[in-house]
This record gives sequence, structure tokens and C-alpha cells, in this order.
Amino acid sequence: MTFHEAILYQKLERGAVRCAVCPRRCRIEEGQRGFCKARENHGGILYALTYGMVSSLAVDPIEKKPLFHFHPGSRCLSLGSLGCNLRCLHCQNWSISQADPLHSGLLETLSPEDCLRAAQKEGVAGLAWTYNEPTIWLEYTLDCARLAKQAGLYTVSVTNGYITPEALAILAPWLDAYRVDLKGWSQEFWRQIPQIPDPKPIFEAARLARRQYGLHLEAVTNMIPGWNDDETSLRGLARWIARELGDDTPWHLTRFFPSYRLQETPPTPLSSLLRGERIGREEGLRYIYLGNLAGKGENTLCPSCGTTLIERSGFSLLRCALGQDHRCPHCGLVIPIVGALQCPGSREVSTKQ
Ligand code: SF4
Repeated sequence: MTFHEAILYQKLERGAVRCAVCPRRCRIEEGQRGFCKARENHGGILYALTYGMVSSLAVDPIEKKPLFHFHPGSRCLSLGSLGCNLRCLHCQNWSISQADPLHSGLLETLSPEDCLRAAQKEGVAGLAWTYNEPTIWLEYTLDCARLAKQAGLYTVSVTNGYITPEALAILAPWLDAYRVDLKGWSQEFWRQIPQIPDPKPIFEAARLARRQYGLHLEAVTNMIPGWNDDETSLRGLARWIARELGDDTPWHLTRFFPSYRLQETPPTPLSSLLRGERIGREEGLRYIYLGNLAGKGENTLCPSCGTTLIERSGFSLLRCALGQDHRCPHCGLVIPIVGALQCPGSREVSTKQ
């Protein structure tokens, strides 16, 4: 493991430092690490322990992130490391998000230059930082993103959104897409499940990402029965997304399955997901997708005339009726999609809802 000095920290008295990468703003004493386990103070200098340390590397369809309105049908090189700045009880990647970078055999070194070479060798369209939280990997994602942009690749952050405005200001100019979890609405949910006292920084960062930095943004809410699937929570989220991020923001409602410390909670019933979809539409959202449902709820429909424009199954595109002008062939509405479509099939139009 190589030690790489962190950015965005402040030196305090008696050798302590304060990290400013995420809203925890950890005060870290000499020899100690931050909450995320990925940043350590040695001699009054903060080090990013996981710089260039990769736990997971794969070529994925962009739909797997999920991003449905961003370079549809393209492939990206997905990278993750270890650690997280949240402790979500339902984490699906807990084996890496809660692992200790200093005591794990899961890591391999990949310099930013090697990362770019790997992407070019695979012929992918972009890079995605995912699997664990990329915010705590800021220095590495930044260096990779700069190389990727120079090489004409797109860049995607798949994030829990718990990032400071300072860190986002540094990273955003090198990002194209921000795929953020808006996990819930009530204070009780945020306190009990992701275990943070205040979710406002997450919502504010999402608003900045979309409105100030102009990133393509898609939001995901994993619907956990009894925690965030009630009418008030779903309506609050949908209303906030439509008002602050725009009614064209794709909202992915995904089915929960028991995981990590929520083993006793049942999977999300289909009826709840459909209720969430209805509420989202009532609040004005135009593109709502249902995930983890084995192929149901993943198609893009024209919000004006109901024509099926992109058919998906799992993470694959089956058929597109959209052309490269992104216009509905039936009514002419322009669908807000970033990047070229890489779509099989014909332009034949189905009108089923
Ligand atoms: S990135 Fe890590 S060390 Fe920095 S404030 Fe967040 S949890 Fe603390």
C-alpha cells in the first residue's frame, strides 16, 4: 500500500487534522483514521490510504449503474475500492464497504495511467466509480477522471451523495454523470438506516451537481418495507426531485431484498413499487423506472404519447424506437438523453403502456 497525501484537509493543533471531503468532517488525531477508514493521519499529514487500491474491476453496461438516460447501450469500466462514509444497515456491498483497507487481501494496485490503459484496451466508452463510495476515493477518482476526459471517455460517479460542497466543486468539472442515492425522506429513516444525523448535505449536493455543475443526474431509491415506502416519504422525495432537480430527472425505484443487517425485512412487494411509481407521476416526474423486478418497469415510455421508446431487459437494451435525434417517432417529443444511443433492433413503434 502506497501512501498518497490527501487533499481537502486542515491542520489543527497538536498534530490533529480535519478532513473536509464529506460532511462528517472528521477530526483525526495523530495515528488515527477517519470514520470511513480510508484516511489516516501520520505526523500531522492526512493520507488517502486507498489511492490506486482497487477491490473490484469490471466492464459493465451503463444500465447496471443504473443510468438509463446516459449513453444508452454503452459499456464502462467500473472500479471500486474499500470503505464507506455511511453505515447503511441494508448495504448490498458491505463486504467491501465495511472492510478495513489496512487488513484486507482484497486490494490490488492500479495507477490512474493503468486504469486508462485498461479502459482503452477494453474499448469502453467511459469510467464509473462504484461498488463502494467514490467520495472517500476523491484523489484517485480525480486523477483518473482527468486522464479519462483527456482521452475522450465519459466519467460517472455512483454515489451516496454524502460529499461536501468543497469536494464536489473539485470533482464536478471532471464528471459527466452523477448517479445518486436519495435513500429516504424522514429524519428517522436517515438516523436509523444510513445512520447520519442530517441528510440535508446529500440533497444539497445533488442540487448543486445538477443545477450548478450541469451534471447528468439520475436518482435511486431502494424501497425498504416499513422504512421509506410510505406515502409521505415517497411523495416528499418525488416532490423534491421534481422541484429541485427537474421533472425530467429519471427516478429509479428499486426492490429491496434482505441483506446485511436487515435480514428480517421482507422484499419490497410489487404493489409498493407501483404505488411509488404512481406517486412519482402525480408529483410530475416523467421518467420513473422500477428496478430489481426481472425485466418489469425498465422501459422508457414517451411521457407525451405513451410510445415505448427503449425496451430493456435486465441491463440489456432490446430495442429502440428512438433515433439519434432522441425524438419520439410518434409525437416528436425530444427525450432528454445524454450521448449517442447504441441500440439494437428496429425503429418500429409500440404504443403499449
Ligand atoms: S471522507 Fe472519511 S475521513 Fe473524511 S470526513 Fe468523511 S468519513 Fe471522515
